[in-house]
Order: sequence, then structure tokens, then C-alpha cells
Amino acid sequence: MRLILPFKDLALDPRLLRSVQHLGFARPTEIQQEAIPAVMVGRDLIVSSQTGSGKTLAYLLPMMQRLLKSRALSKQDARALILAPTRELAKQVYAQLRLLVANTPVTAALIVGGENFNDQEKILKRQPAVVVATPGRFVDHLEHKTLFLQGLEMLILDEADRMLDLGFLPQLTVINKAASHRLRQTLLFSATLDHAEVDNLALALLKNPYRIAVGAGYQQHQDIEQQFFLADNLSHKEALLQHFLQQQDIKQLIMFTATRADAERLTGVCEAAGFTAIALSGKLAQQQRNSVMQQFATGKFQVLVTTDLASRGLDLLQVSHVINFDLPKHPEEYVHRIGRTGRAGAKGQALSLVGPKDWPSLQNIEKFLRHAVEFSVVEDLPARFSGIKTLTGKTKTERKSASPDKARRPRPAKAVNAKVKSAPFFEGGDDGSGPVRRKK
Ligand code: AMP
Repeated sequence: MRLILPFKDLALDPRLLRSVQHLGFARPTEIQQEAIPAVMVGRDLIVSSQTGSGKTLAYLLPMMQRLLKSRALSKQDARALILAPTRELAKQVYAQLRLLVANTPVTAALIVGGENFNDQEKILKRQPAVVVATPGRFVDHLEHKTLFLQGLEMLILDEADRMLDLGFLPQLTVINKAASHRLRQTLLFSATLDHAEVDNLALALLKNPYRIAVGAGYQQHQDIEQQFFLADNLSHKEALLQHFLQQQDIKQLIMFTATRADAERLTGVCEAAGFTAIALSGKLAQQQRNSVMQQFATGKFQVLVTTDLASRGLDLLQVSHVINFDLPKHPEEYVHRIGRTGRAGAKGQALSLVGPKDWPSLQNIEKFLRHAVEFSVVEDLPARFSGIKTLTGKTKTERKSASPDKARRPRPAKAVNAKVKSAPFFEGGDDGSGPVRRKK
């Protein structure tokens, strides 16, 4: 790791340095140290960074520096556009930006879906210098000719991989075309760069980019303890959940489920265990979603149960635990979910339940993390399920049991060491059928 110099050595405008000081940050994070000087010399960037690494300021600070120090290309058009995959992330970015624009002449606006279009039109007519937006709603405004991008100086894509996963490529293409000129600087951030579509996007958008990879997505996040537990079925998962609710020292918890129905039911389970809990579902109108997030952020609720909606852009230092009641389909999503805890140096626990339906997702996660996960066992709640055999594999991959909680008795060896009949890790397909044979 390189020596990290203090912020004041980065030649930033004194107003920006004051804001950073106000935030209580003395030194840049590794990604900030790498990215800020590169952006300040005008390079396009492609950056892979671990969630929680400080990437937002890594682009906001040099962006602000450029806006403060150079003359605008156009008086009417937005000078910088930051795109984020979800409303929640866009709001988080906007909140950080507001702190930086305070005491400067730079104006900023937030344009996300689910909010009143006409109100947004009025805001955009005031010609903000920076717009933070989700791609869908932003393109609606472009098509409506509420604003133009010919003068855009900086295009910043936050979590580009996720934007592609969510199907925003057409919108990104429209935006790229509308802001296509030689002087534009483009920054692309992605949790992972192991994504062919991200490469293609980078080719289309960036000019001779400088690549930065700090703490690649698959690397173990030092502040997050990850545990995986095998589960037989839904009721076994629920029993494990109840055990965690009783045994773990939970300050705040975000729990991810595959379905809305489960999200609502499990909210009840958490309440029955004595927690204040709230569900965030896609069914809610934007205003209700805002209110749920707000109530969780202010600590009114200890538990937030959600489908995937909240996995990005939540930056809450109190979140001590993340539980994957169901595993996500995309492995990158796993990294993003667990990244809701262990923020900015705080410690976090990520507990994942792996039932038969989760097995293919687990295999993808293992490929992504580049290692086999180890299973932990709750003494009184061992699983009969021990994995799914593969069609092709001849090699047996031994899965070791972790011993995360030294105080608890480990599961008997036979039960703990689930033998998985699979090809060396990355090749095995699975037939989704019978259980793995245990070692005699
Ligand atoms: P991000 O990766 O941008 O979501 O940031 C993750 C967390 O790190 C946020 O809580 C930031 O406020 C915090 N953070 C950003 N930069 C620094 C820094 N230089 N020192 C300490 N914390 C930081």
C-alpha cells in the first residue's frame, strides 16, 4: 500500500479542504489518493473500488475542483452529470455534494424517478451546474428538452456495472451522444471490472482511460466478517434467523429477501423478537420509500427488511449486521449487500443463509470471490442439506467448517464437513438435483 498523504497535499481549493475538514477526514482513502490527482490532470478514469472505500469523494472532490477553477464551456448547460443506478444511491451522492457546494457558487440538483416531473423541470430551468440523476428520469428530461448537454464537462458513472445490470445501457448511450464532444472528461466507477459489458461501455465512453483498481470487488473486506449457514428450507431459515436475532449483538440490521411476501412476514418475525422493524418494498410510492429510509437512517427502526432495493447507496454507520435470508442472483450484488455494513472503518457482520434454491447463487458468489466459502453451524440447528452434487465433477471439494464463534461448540465433524462433489471450483455446473453424498 502506498503512503497516504494528508488532504492538504492534494492541491485542492481551500473551500473544499474546509468541507473535508468539516467532515472530520484528515487523510484521503486509498482510492481518493489515486483518483483525485488523476482526475485533476484531466484524465478519463475507469475505477474498480470496494464498496465503502470512499469512492464518492474520489470523484466529487476533483469534479468540484474543476468546476471552481475552470471557466464553464456553456453558461446554460449542466457542467457535470453524475449518474447512479438507484434513487437511494443518487440521494446519498447528492447529500455529500451538498456539503461540498456550500460556500461556493456551484449549484446542484437531484433528478430521480418517482418524483414530480414538473417540479424537476422547474429546478432544471434554473440551470444547475451539477446534476445527480438516475438514468431513466434524466433521459426523460433530455427528451423533453428541459436541459441540454452540449456544454457538459464531466460525465461520471457511479456503479456502472449495476446500471448495466438494471438495463440502463440505452439511456447511457443517449446521454453519451447528447454530451459528445472532445472536451468532456468521463469517469466510470464499478464494483467490478470483470464484466464484459463494463469493458464495452468503457470503450464507448472513455478516451484513453487511466485504470485504477483498489481493493478489487472480490477481495475480502477486512471490516466485514462473513458467515454462511446451510439451511434445509424456509422454516429452517426462519429458525436460524430467530437464533441470530437472539444471539447477535445487533445495533441495526438490513435483511435481504427474495420476495416481498417474505420481506413483510420476516418484519413480523423481527418484531416478535423485540426489534423495531420495517419493510421496504418496490410496491411503495417514492415518498413512502423515502420515509422508510429516513426512519431507518435516523434509528427509529432497528431492522430494515428489503428485497434488493436498498442494497446500494445506503451509508449508515450503525448497520452492524446484514443478513442474506436469500442469496442474490448476481454475485456482485452479494458484495454490494454486505457492503452496507463495515462502513468507513466500523466492524460489520454479514450472515448468509444457503438453502437448496440458493445453491446456484452460492456457486456464482464463490466464483466471484475466487474462493470456496466455509460454512458455520448453529449447534442446535444443523442442516441436513449439504449442497447439491454436480453432474460433471469427479473431484471432491471439501468444504471446511468455519469456527467463527469460539464459544459455541462446533458441529460434529461428519455434519460439518459437507462434501461437495464438484469439479474444481469454477468449472462445475450443477444439475440442481439430489443432495451431496456424505463421506463414509
Ligand atoms: P463511499 O465509498 O463513497 O460510499 O464512502 C464510504 C464511507 O467512507 C462514507 O461514510 C464516507 O463518508 C466515508 N469516507 C469517505 N472519505 C473518507 C476519508 N477520507 N476518511 C474517512 N472516511 C471517509
